[in-house]
Amino acid sequence: MTQDFSPDQKRYLEGFVSGVQAIRGSRGAPGFGGGVPFGGPGAAPAAEAEPTGPDAIHLKAMAAQEKAGKKLVPQEKAKREEHPFDAYARLKVLAEKNQFAKQLDDFRIRFHGLFYVGPTQDSYMCRLRIHNGILKAWQFRGVADLSEQYAGGFTHVTTRANLQAREINAANGIPYIEGLVDIGLTAKGSGADNIRNVTGTPTAGVDPQELVDTRPYAKEWHHHILNDRALYGLPRKFNVAFDGAGRIAALEDTNDIGFQAVEVLEGAGVAPGVWWRLALGGITGHKDFARDTGVIVPLDKAIKVADAIVRVFIASGDRSDRNKARLKYVLDAWGFEKFLAEVEKVQGWAFTRVSPEHVAPRPESDRLAHIGVHPQTQAGLNWVGVVLPLGKMTCDQMRALADVSERYGDGDVRLTVWQNLLLSGVRDADVATVEQAIADIGLATSASNVRAGLVACTGSRGCKFAASDTKGFADLIANHVDDIGLAVDTPVNIHVTGCHNSCAQHYIGDIGLIGAKVPINDEDTVEGFHLHVGGGFGTDAAIGRELVRDVKGEDCPAVVEKMLRGYLAARDGAETFA
Ligand code: SF4
Repeated sequence: MTQDFSPDQKRYLEGFVSGVQAIRGSRGAPGFGGGVPFGGPGAAPAAEAEPTGPDAIHLKAMAAQEKAGKKLVPQEKAKREEHPFDAYARLKVLAEKNQFAKQLDDFRIRFHGLFYVGPTQDSYMCRLRIHNGILKAWQFRGVADLSEQYAGGFTHVTTRANLQAREINAANGIPYIEGLVDIGLTAKGSGADNIRNVTGTPTAGVDPQELVDTRPYAKEWHHHILNDRALYGLPRKFNVAFDGAGRIAALEDTNDIGFQAVEVLEGAGVAPGVWWRLALGGITGHKDFARDTGVIVPLDKAIKVADAIVRVFIASGDRSDRNKARLKYVLDAWGFEKFLAEVEKVQGWAFTRVSPEHVAPRPESDRLAHIGVHPQTQAGLNWVGVVLPLGKMTCDQMRALADVSERYGDGDVRLTVWQNLLLSGVRDADVATVEQAIADIGLATSASNVRAGLVACTGSRGCKFAASDTKGFADLIANHVDDIGLAVDTPVNIHVTGCHNSCAQHYIGDIGLIGAKVPINDEDTVEGFHLHVGGGFGTDAAIGRELVRDVKGEDCPAVVEKMLRGYLAARDGAETFA
């Protein structure tokens, strides 16, 4: 469809009245529309104008780093030249011309949730935002309809308890993301240098052992981000998770901010009861978990604290080196005390600290609670964990799951970081019917201990960074272990990631594989992996150690089999891989 713009819209596109003008003018650069300074015609010379408004915090940080002799990376310059939100109308014109947004426009359109994934596929991927990973069955059905109409006819559950659609052509990207808004969802800020999808405990509100129902906190943070432009365009991406201490791990310790529900004991010098413990700086791809700060936060202050942390990060994160731009590196450079002191200045009040002995041990998560039938805290009701083959569902399967949720459950579809989903609120009397309905659509509610803990990123089928076909080889490994009838009697997590970005978090798997081009002679390579062992999360948190390099993909099933046999033969009681 070709759109006719009104004169005002044309002026907007030409940069006369957009935020582009404000941003450019504020640093004294020529304006997009001809050098009109920040503040409009007749305002003070731009070079002397102090940035104001929601972009000011970013512009000041960029200016300070340039003054300190740092060279901004192209992505930072792109944000300054044209705030990606202000590019929407221009990007929409590209879509109407059936053209993909490429290069820096690819970076900008990621702020709107679309990722051009060429050259691997000449198409967009769309990643949603679903707070706490829980959506209504009618929304889930709506995503299926959008994926059928505008994408490849399937949808994936991601490792951040989110949904992704692929194979979206250039013209369909904007209709897909606008369609999401029509069903009460959004993709805004799900890519690029933004605060990503907010994860929480997937069994929130139905979990017999949870200390906190994380849903209201994830929801408040989600809307807080969506409604403040200053919280977009960070030095790099930023992850926040709320873990309510339920039976299914939310992997909050792999996030930049992990809010962990804890019980503070008598004698700590503060009111005993449930608080958030604040953990900071998780980025397992860089071999770091979020570390305990010693700070506890009243439940109702979490959003204010998260906001202040993000603002300190905006002002301090490195904008000259994208490999060093995450929160971890600010913490490494400053130390926790200096960073927390800055956060206290921004939020205007001092943190409360308790020593570890005044915090009760957290309830353990169950590594299989995301699969199969489990009783809820509400008597007579259950959640049913559905196994999805490496997160993938067809549109027909999604619509059928939505129907089951509405007919036999409470209408919620709950996504987990284990790339599967739960249907909650299923009465005892309906469990068998629900399991049969799931089997009838080609899915399952049980899996081997290896397949239940199998996680894989997109890999070379759809990601240009991948060195290997992660999903394909992950499937080969699980099939091999199942086919040979190897009795693995304990949960084993196998994480298969395609590159150092580690979207599947290979360092926290019992067995972790990272994609590699494996040399087979002086000139040629094949897809393969380096294998790690001994990772973990939660109370077993550990970074896996590299065991063997350059294993051809086709050889991985046999190598993993040997590792599993070795572990089963040599373990001491309940000893884990770590
Ligand atoms: Fe792509 Fe690398 Fe992420 Fe896998 S880990 S999805 S290959 S960026």
